[in-house]
Amino acid sequence: MLKIEHIGIAVRDLARSNALFAQLLGAPHYKIEAVDSEHVNTSFFRIGESKIELLEASDPASPIARFIDKRGEGIHHLAFEVADIEAEMQRLAAEGFTLLNERPKRGADNKLVCFLHPKSANGVLVELCQEIPAADPATDGMD
Ligand code: ZN
Repeated sequence: MLKIEHIGIAVRDLARSNALFAQLLGAPHYKIEAVDSEHVNTSFFRIGESKIELLEASDPASPIARFIDKRGEGIHHLAFEVADIEAEMQRLAAEGFTLLNERPKRGADNKLVCFLHPKSANGVLVELCQEIPAADPATDGMD
């Protein structure tokens, strides 16, 4: 694990929260991205070498909608940057952590991601993420 890549925060209204976090952090978001596979709209803020990711449900079936229904807005996940996501997934599975996806999948912000079940990590939803190399023909045009 290399660093905390970002902290994910579930919000009801991305536009309003973008304005709020711009006030809080003193700088606006640098990107908005819809992740259709996760049914979310996201925005990203830089904070030092880490980021804040705001997540808004894009439809009622979104995991973010269910999260907010149950627990309200707030911190949703911690994302750790890894150099080799497949190796980390194997290592963590061998350590007894429950992986929520068997293969890395395409996440927001040009990342391959995998989630760990919160039940295996003291209630924390953990995201592993690995930057997708700029010109990797294997992942170009995935979406
Ligand atoms: Zn995330």
